[in-house]
Amino acid sequence: MMYDIIIIGGGVTGCTIARALCKYDLKVCLLEKEADIAVGTTKANSGVVHAGYAAEREYIKRDLCIRGNKLYTQAAKELNFPFKRIGSFVVALESGQIKDLEKKRKRGIEDGVHGLELILDRAEILAMEPNLTDEVIAVLHAPSAGIVSPYEMTFALAENAAMNGVKFFRNHEVIKIDHRDYTFTVTTRRGEFQGKNLINCAGLYAAKVSKMLGLDYFDIMPRKGEYVLFDRSEIRLNKVLFPVPTKISKGILVCPTAHDNIFAGPNAQNITDIEDTSTTTAGLKEVLEGGRQLVPNLPLRASIRNFAGLRAVPSTYDFIIDNTDIYGFINVAGILSPGLTSCYAIAEKVIEYLELLGVQLEVKEDYNPIRPKPERLADMTKQQLDKKIQENPAWGRIICRCETIPEAEIINAIHTPVGATTIDGIKFRCRPGMGRCQGGFCRPRVMEILSRELHLPYQTITKKGEDTNVLVSKTKDVRLKEMREGGAE
Ligand SMILES: Cc1cc2nc3c(=O)[nH]c(=O)nc-3n(C[C@H](O)[C@H](O)[C@H](O)COP(=O)(O)OP(=O)(O)OC[C@H]3O[C@@H](n4cnc5c(N)ncnc54)[C@H](O)[C@@H]3O)c2cc1C
Repeated sequence: MMYDIIIIGGGVTGCTIARALCKYDLKVCLLEKEADIAVGTTKANSGVVHAGYAAEREYIKRDLCIRGNKLYTQAAKELNFPFKRIGSFVVALESGQIKDLEKKRKRGIEDGVHGLELILDRAEILAMEPNLTDEVIAVLHAPSAGIVSPYEMTFALAENAAMNGVKFFRNHEVIKIDHRDYTFTVTTRRGEFQGKNLINCAGLYAAKVSKMLGLDYFDIMPRKGEYVLFDRSEIRLNKVLFPVPTKISKGILVCPTAHDNIFAGPNAQNITDIEDTSTTTAGLKEVLEGGRQLVPNLPLRASIRNFAGLRAVPSTYDFIIDNTDIYGFINVAGILSPGLTSCYAIAEKVIEYLELLGVQLEVKEDYNPIRPKPERLADMTKQQLDKKIQENPAWGRIICRCETIPEAEIINAIHTPVGATTIDGIKFRCRPGMGRCQGGFCRPRVMEILSRELHLPYQTITKKGEDTNVLVSKTKDVRLKEMREGGAE
């Protein structure tokens, strides 16, 4: 089949573009190297929908962030992902920092960031955020900032794109690209694809993909950010809390998640290994110390997980969104922060480029922008739940006790378009394994459900695809093998 558009990379950037394109009468496919979408940088970030005052004016990421923030309202309504516009504080702890905050406020307002205000009254600030340090002197309040579940939004985008005809191919790493007679031949580990236009959204690997077509005008460097995540505990935060930023990073923030946990992080370390998402004792110490400057009573004993994400930092330090010299090849690379915020605006820009390339953008008659909200036990009243259990007992079988997730939610997460096929796929779609026990109790049962619903042998179920098997083989088989090899009696 000849595709009109092939997208490489199933992170938030690729999936937002796929969803923007699914509206038109075009043949579109997305190729992702991993066993699932949303497993690169999109999986491990702060999940903040930034207001847009932070970047300097010379960067396109500033305009795209401001526009992207505004587009979230409509997107959340259509796609039903967890998103709350709770507002953010940049917290000044020294009087010398106030001047910088005022400059950000003034420029932000000029550039269309709504509602920015500098608050100098400590009592007013602490009434809005009681857990903030009482050493606060002033805050820059951005009411339009929000929090989102980045992977759930990406799943929602992919589901809606697939509902409207986009084909998703996971486990399809692109290893070679040829361009001849206005046709791209894209070779993956599982076969070839042909397309008239090609969009590179490969995140940390975007420079590598661009080089497959001989274009090596940028590099991508990984910059690690470590986090500490806390269980839903006695502390609730009302706002995203930032320190005053440094030149290389927004600093260590303390922030609620879309599911009411809180986290501290990220720090910022330039590294060389593009796959290194390990955490270090020193890094986590830095994160906790940074977090405690803003929220002194961080509940350290309620820490349930540490993790790290990698920023794809381009040599230009700005987003690279280019209609390249190769006709039909668009690079969407170096999408560092605030890429999650900017994704809808980035997709608009890509559509403009495709129009310039002469792609016919006719809206399909049957285009449906609505992705139905997944049914969740947590959203039901007791009466609604009782009725559900009568209709389908799987609503009454609780698989994850920490997060109270019934079997029915897991089954739905498997059978939805671009659904879960791995343990992590279930965890990130409907949360078994996200709670205090981190999957200790529910994992074997999640594996049973995956095995049954996907008609796969139990021991072939993986954590996150190839080479991440949880089981090697049945104990009985190991014993038999040993006996046949003559060792054991
Ligand atoms: C620590 C940290 C904090 C952040 N906080 C925020 C924030 O609060 N707000 C915000 O707006 N932004 C934030 N960001 C930025 C945001 O996370 C990114 O901009 C966004 O996730 C980038 O998405 P992406 O789709 O471009 O990349 P990715 O999510 O990395 O997706 C790229 C995909 O391409 C696939 N791929 C790579 N090579 C190939 C190949 N050869 N063939 C097929 N597939 C391939 C990968 O497997 C991957 O799935 C943060 C980033 C980090 C690291």
